[in-house]
This record gives sequence, C-alpha cells and structure tokens, in this order.
Amino acid sequence: MTSKQKENNMKHIPTKCPMCGGKVNAGTTTFTVDLTTGVIVVRNVPAWVCNQCGEDWIEDEVSAKLEVITL
Ligand SMILES: [Zn+2]
Repeated sequence: MTSKQKENNMKHIPTKCPMCGGKVNAGTTTFTVDLTTGVIVVRNVPAWVCNQCGEDWIEDEVSAKLEVITL
C-alpha cells in the first residue's frame, strides 16, 4: 500500500470569507509595511481577496518573500 500523502493545504487562507461569508478569489492586493524609517508599499501582491468585503489573505510563501524585500 502506498502511504497516504500528506495534504498540503494552505492553513490560514479560507475559501469562504469569515467576515461576511463572501467568496474568496485569487487576486492581488497592496501590502504595506510600516517601518520606523518610513512606509514601504508593495503593489500587485498576489493574494486571496473576498469579492464582497475586500478582505485579503497573503500566502505564507508570498509574505516570506515580502519580508525579504522589506527587511
Ligand atoms: Zn468578506
């Protein structure tokens, strides 16, 4: 028997918005980092966006890259 493959689900990204129950679609968002020296704005960041309230979620992989950019 083959061992059951571990499901690699995205942990914190919902398929349904927990705020309004809207549908969460792939899209882009604007990521803002507030530093002591100023603010960095990264546009067109790949994210999951609620089609009703606009709440967004950024995947771990993407936020890790953002951390590298904004360090
Ligand atoms: Zn929503």
